[in-house]
Amino acid sequence: METTVVPTAPTGLTTAEATERLAADGLNTVAAPAPRRLAGRIGRQLADPLVALLLAAAVVTTALRDIPDTAVILLVVTLNTLIGVLQEIRADSAIAALDQLAAPTARVVRDGHDVVLPASQLVSGDLVRLEAGDVVPADLHLTEAQRAAFDESALTGESVPVHRAAGEEAGSGTVLTTGRAAGLVMRTGASSSLGRIAALVSRTKPAPTPLQRRIASLGRVLGITAIAVSAVVFAVGVLAGEPLARMAITAVSLVVAAVPESLPAVVTLALALGARRMARTRAIPRKLHAVETLGSVTVIASDKTGTLTQNRMSVQQAVTASGARYVITGAGYAPDGEVHVGEGSPDDQETLRLIARAGLLCNDADLVAPGEQRSEWTAAGDPMEAALVTFAARCGLDITAERADSPRTAEHPFDQATRQMTTVHHLRDGTYLVVRKGAPESVLDPETDADLRGAAADLAADGLRVLALATAITATQPDPANPPPLQPVGLVGIGDPLRANARTTAEAFEASGVRLLLITGDHPATAAAIGAQLGILRPGERVSVGDAGPLSADDIEHARVYARTQPEQKLDIIAGLQQRGEVVAMTGDGVNDAPALRRADIGIAMGGGTEVARQAAELVLVDDNLGTVADAIGEGRRIYDNIRRFLRYALSGGIAELLVMLAGPLLGMPVALLPGQLLWINLLTHGIPGVALGAEPAEADVLQRKPRSPQESVLGDGLLASVLAGGVCLATVVLASGVFAQQRDLPWQSVMFVVLGLAQLGVALAVRAKAVPGAPRNWSLVAAVALSGVLQVAGVLAPPLRTLLGTEALTWPQLLACAAVAVIPGLALLVVHRWIRDFRPAGRGPAALPHFIDKSHAES
Ligand code: ADP
Ligand code: MG
Repeated sequence: METTVVPTAPTGLTTAEATERLAADGLNTVAAPAPRRLAGRIGRQLADPLVALLLAAAVVTTALRDIPDTAVILLVVTLNTLIGVLQEIRADSAIAALDQLAAPTARVVRDGHDVVLPASQLVSGDLVRLEAGDVVPADLHLTEAQRAAFDESALTGESVPVHRAAGEEAGSGTVLTTGRAAGLVMRTGASSSLGRIAALVSRTKPAPTPLQRRIASLGRVLGITAIAVSAVVFAVGVLAGEPLARMAITAVSLVVAAVPESLPAVVTLALALGARRMARTRAIPRKLHAVETLGSVTVIASDKTGTLTQNRMSVQQAVTASGARYVITGAGYAPDGEVHVGEGSPDDQETLRLIARAGLLCNDADLVAPGEQRSEWTAAGDPMEAALVTFAARCGLDITAERADSPRTAEHPFDQATRQMTTVHHLRDGTYLVVRKGAPESVLDPETDADLRGAAADLAADGLRVLALATAITATQPDPANPPPLQPVGLVGIGDPLRANARTTAEAFEASGVRLLLITGDHPATAAAIGAQLGILRPGERVSVGDAGPLSADDIEHARVYARTQPEQKLDIIAGLQQRGEVVAMTGDGVNDAPALRRADIGIAMGGGTEVARQAAELVLVDDNLGTVADAIGEGRRIYDNIRRFLRYALSGGIAELLVMLAGPLLGMPVALLPGQLLWINLLTHGIPGVALGAEPAEADVLQRKPRSPQESVLGDGLLASVLAGGVCLATVVLASGVFAQQRDLPWQSVMFVVLGLAQLGVALAVRAKAVPGAPRNWSLVAAVALSGVLQVAGVLAPPLRTLLGTEALTWPQLLACAAVAVIPGLALLVVHRWIRDFRPAGRGPAALPHFIDKSHAES
């Protein structure tokens, strides 16, 4: 709402005020899609071409006073609509729950305290705090701005950050790239800058995923095939003297029966429920297509810090410019710890203290003492800088006093391109201290500092991140971007232990055919050491160095470890890989990572990273743990497997129905099955068991297979052949039993009706996932098949259904014989499938089961 801002106290609004304003202004969301009404859902189900066809048929049957067929048709339409609406509601609620988990948040002052709220709760007058990487949640009037630069490309398209001072405005949707700011909310929701733009770009519902699109076009092909075959059946029947209207209804029923109308709903539901399962393992998909793309990921490019390492840094070694080496002990960020002189090294405490002081001053981090919520010392700010604070304390410096004694008067913040930062401090004696810290190559002089550079290379080879520190004293305040020559004081080597599961995660990716790449801004030697610890860099393999110039095609084809990488080079790596046909997942957490996250097929943001990275990503890792991605990939593959299971089952059944109706006249059965019978089978096979197939669990080897090729069709890898063979097998069994019954003057049509229905259910059981010992089975499928089986048999046993479907009674022995014959296609499928699987090149040995199969593997 447009309101003039009444300046509020720095205590912000009270909860009561905010609640009142929220009721008046509405949620701070950009045109939320209107909730779908039940009537609309039903309407869309009825608008389906197949349903429209059925309704048209119902008009004809009513005109013919054919009450049983009219009843069956209306029953089928009603049940189909019901199942369709229920599936849609389930899918929508799963997606809505995800939206909420991934919703943007904002830090706002309420009742005098900082709280983190969903950005949708903001109201005008709220005091909002911003840190680098935050997305501005509403139009703000800045009350405070420290070196605040905003990327306004979301509003203006201009990507060069704009500096804004207190008193100026920051528009919603822009990103604070550097500095800090606070501001009062002026406009929210649709009247904010972003809301006004969003209103121009009319809201459309999310685009269908590639799989949904492929399935839709497959559906069209199936529809056309079914219509063509039905037309032939219709023509043959009419030529044989069958009444025109009855043949028309038969043809319509055949189309409806042969086309798996529940296919799109099954796909959407499988994706949505899969997304919800992923969210439970703490990998939140922000878009539905992420779920299916994850199943085909071939390369995962990960940063090192925090994802594969713990991001719990500590200074482990220090080297003074005078050549003294020190080893530092102590756990985590706790200030207590010990400093020992290295073996055979001279002692130079004075320079050591200079290093510690420099690292403490050229620093924006703090330590947080253990409190009610955390039992140990933690870092506030950059963990690496916090490690320097801890180091200073371990060297015996008084943190607070040192910082108070040397207030910062100017600075040049850390820049990923130059890999250094510089601060200027005003000392008691009136002089100025300039401190620079950064990567050794950028801080040290290649000629005069050769010794230190050698020491830096040694530290890096141990897998430590190395910082060089240099200082100068000046009489007047210098320009921090361009200070006088600095004198190096020494180096620190900072360790960041690998996560406990990092190596198993790397092995899990390896086993699943997904190439794990390590991309870091660190020194090549550090990166190589970590790569070797992870097992992804084998002896003799080289590290690609970003600073060495543009990456070559050879780099992109072979490198597993990229060091000293510039943020833009991530884009080159992704583009190069995609050109080679890879499906790339890329992790990131910083402001600079957003473009790469968007460019990757799957951008993976860390839950603990910046808001802008989270909003650019497809998948958010709540626990920052790359191991969770392996699980998510397994889940994506499971869903794809299940969609193919459904296709194998539904399409072979549909083909069988077409073949039976087509071949019937040749065998003396002008109309092999009546329309009501076709529709009944359709209802019992496509309806309940179809949906239940989507819930099949993962097979034990999901993560030991190669990723599927992204170009492969959903019917690829032998599925089409298997569907055709299955359809022929089903039709043969059905026709054979029909002919057999016909020759013995038994009710052959009812025999075919029962055999066709039961045989399809047998196929549903045959395409189930191979059981994993100890893992729960999908009992919903068994229950669905049992229920459908009972209803199928009831179609010839229950007198009212017999009238409705035009069937004749079968005796129990006859039914038993039908069941025995109906087992054949499923059994054949099972045998052939298992045989193919067992003779296919096997996976690469045993690997841990993914979490979603066996919870005991979850990392504590
Ligand atoms: P990564 O991709 O591994 O997170 P960064 O781009 O953050 O790497 O850092 C690259 C290099 O820049 C580090 O190896 C270090 O030498 C230097 N560096 C990182 N952070 C700072 C900082 N706050 N101050 C000075 N130098 C830094
Ligand atoms: Mg970093």
